[in-house]
Formats: sequence, structure tokens, C-alpha cells
Amino acid sequence: MGNRKLTVMKFGGGVLSNRQDFERAAGIISARRASGERIVVVVSAVSGVTDWLLGNSGKLSPSEVARHLVELHEPLASAPFAKLCLPLEEKLASNDLDRGEFVASFGERLSAIALASVLQDRGIQARAFDAESAGIACVGVAGRASGDEVVTARNLSASVTPLLDDSVAVVTGYYGVMPDGRVSTFGRGGSDYSAGLVAACLNAGRLELWKHVDGFLSCDPRFVPLARRVKSLSYGEAQELGFFGAKILHPKTVIPLRAKRIPVIIRNVERPDGEGTVIASRESRGLELKSLAFKREVACVYVQGEWLAEFPGLASTVFGAVSSVGVSIDVIATSELNLCFTTSRGDALKAAGAVASVPGISGVSTRCDLSLVSLIGDGLVDTPNVGGRAFGALGCEGVNVELISNGASNSNLSFVVAEKDLERAVKILHKEFFEGDANA
Ligand code: ASP
Ligand code: MG
Repeated sequence: MGNRKLTVMKFGGGVLSNRQDFERAAGIISARRASGERIVVVVSAVSGVTDWLLGNSGKLSPSEVARHLVELHEPLASAPFAKLCLPLEEKLASNDLDRGEFVASFGERLSAIALASVLQDRGIQARAFDAESAGIACVGVAGRASGDEVVTARNLSASVTPLLDDSVAVVTGYYGVMPDGRVSTFGRGGSDYSAGLVAACLNAGRLELWKHVDGFLSCDPRFVPLARRVKSLSYGEAQELGFFGAKILHPKTVIPLRAKRIPVIIRNVERPDGEGTVIASRESRGLELKSLAFKREVACVYVQGEWLAEFPGLASTVFGAVSSVGVSIDVIATSELNLCFTTSRGDALKAAGAVASVPGISGVSTRCDLSLVSLIGDGLVDTPNVGGRAFGALGCEGVNVELISNGASNSNLSFVVAEKDLERAVKILHKEFFEGDANA
């Protein structure tokens, strides 16, 4: 049985940048405590700290690094930050294999302590846990690990759960402990995922992600002032949208929550009573378009190989070559003789170089002035004529579509347009699908 009175609340670095932010978070938490909820908080590092650590810890002496962090955190809370930074100084001076990951995780360690201390100053019992003492276990590759749900659930029920009747637990996001005892992060922006993991492992009633925005919007408001809040998303739609960044949600966040049907609510710290965006299991059938997302600086790699149709293994060799140089592919299209795929612009030449060395490939070219646009909403592929309407509307305005990907998931229709046409394409499609009595 789930523990329906337990809420996991995650506060990201963007809403933890100064003393007022910490006080505001503490106010939100204490109001909930007062209404009888049991609360586990997951935090990111204070805004900018992870970037600073990754950029500077190799250039400065251990004591300079520590001094900077102490200066940055002292105004936020009354905790013994100089002493707390000693393990960081030791690690920086060591040759330990997890030195880089440990250093990257240090911002979260300090922000968890800072928030617990601000809560205590308000008379709320609170305890900070680093991932080690909470028992956040992970597996996989250092720097992009995944949580071990079985071990983490067991550990949390011994470390955190017994405290929750009397205290708020404040747990570090972003990293966990590998089976060999070394620490590893979950990748940049990974605190959302930590919060998903903790909520799933504790069988929480819900996860709340506290941000500076009211939730997901139907489009980037810098392009479309009429963009509106998306009230609800399915887990699949949230994952598709998370991929487009906007820094609202790390795409891995919902993975641990989906099977347990734990809802996620994105809330705005400035409007704590707002409805936000709720991510939960899908209830309705039929098409519901939710959002129009896009990605800039996209490149297309075009591969010609007379053998593509004849040799079934060639496509996989091509993709294998691309992945062997660490480049990830977004969208793929094939014909009998040609194949093309998109990557981020910065990776295009690397990908093209890797493909050129594959035997049987007769030509590779790239085009780098592109953007990827996606319509996101469940039921998209099952519904006739969404593509027809989209391409019709674009065609009428003279926007050419360079590549289309449709059908891989029922909630994503993606296509590539020239970067110069992006803003126009987005406006046209928002008007077509989201303005007036649209279905979002
Ligand atoms: N502090 C980490 C980062 O900046 C994790 C997070 O913010 O979610 O990537
Ligand atoms: Mg951060």
C-alpha cells in the first residue's frame, strides 16, 4: 500500500539562489507540515554552484575552492560551512577515482544542510541527509547513473522513514552511491530524477517539483505570447517534452514513478496555491495536443549507400559508428538508397566522420542550419490528418519541411525546418492547433 500522506517536494537551484529563496521554500514546507503532511524534500545545489564547481575546481587550490563555497553559503543559513567543506578539500587533494563526481555533488550537500538549518531556525525539526546517509543507491556509468530502486527503497525505509512523523527530511539530489561505494551523479539537471526516485521508493502520494514557472506551457512564450499553461500531461507526454529541455523537467524523472502511478505536480514558488501542471496516468482517449516544442541548432546528416536496401545490417552499422563517437541521434528517416538523421549541430561533423568510415557508404553530407519542431500529445498518430493539417498550414505560408518523423510514439510528431523558418513555423502551428477552441 502506498503511503498516501507522504509528499516529496523538490526545490531546484533556480529557486534556491539567496536567503529569501531559502526562506520562501521553508515557508512552503512549514505550511504543509502544519497541515499534517509528512514531507521529504529533495534539493539541488544553490543556483550556479554546480557550474562553478565543474568549471573551477580543477583550476584553484582546494582551500580556494572551499573558501568560495563558504562565502557563497554563509549568507544563506547558519551552519558550520567551513568545517563542512573539509571533506571536499580532502577529496580535491586526493587521486580517488570518484573525485570529479564527488566534487560535482558537493553543492547539493551544502544546500541540503542550509535548508535544514533554515527550517530549524523556524522551529521545524529537520534533518539533512546526503545520498550516502539516506542510502540513495545507483548503478551504471559514472556521470549518468540510474537509481537502484530496490536497494534505495530498503535503505530509505531504515534511514528516512522512521523520522518523518516528527521531522522533515532534506535529501541531496543529483547523485547516488554505486555498489563499489563510489559516488556518481545522474547527469546534469538530475535532481528532478533523484526526487522521482525518492518518491517512488517511499511510495509517496505525490511528487511536487517547485519551479519559477506555473508548469509546462503550450509553447515558448518568447515566440508565442498566447502560450497557455498545460493543465495535465500523461507520463509519456512529459517524457517527450522533457527531452526538449526548457529546463522544466529532466526526462528521466517520471521513469520510476510511472509504474507506481505516482502523480507529479509542477508548481510555482511564487504562486504556491496555483494548480500547476499535473503529470499522471492518462485518463481520456482520443487526441489531446498538449504542447509545441522545438530545438534549435540541429543538424542533419545525409548518408548515401548503394547497399542500404540490400544489406540489412548496414543501417545498424551506421548507427553503431555514430554511437561509438558518443553522439546521440534525435530523428531518423530512411529510403531505399539513403538515410538521414539529426544530431545537435555541434556533433554533426563528428557523426559524419564516423559514418564516412563505414564500408558500403558512398557519400555523407551535412546540413547545419536546421531546427526540430515537435507536436506533442497522446493519440497523435491514431488520429487522422494531424500531419495533413500541420503540413498544410506550413505549406500555405511557404515554410518547407525538410524531414518528418512520425509514428515511433503515439504522442510525438517531429519534423525539421530551416532555422530561419523556425519562429514562423512555431507561430503558424500554435495558431492552427492551440489558439481559439483548440484541444489542449
Ligand atoms: N545541481 C545539478 C546540476 O546543476 C543537478 C540539478 O540541478 O538538478 O546539474
Ligand atoms: Mg543545478
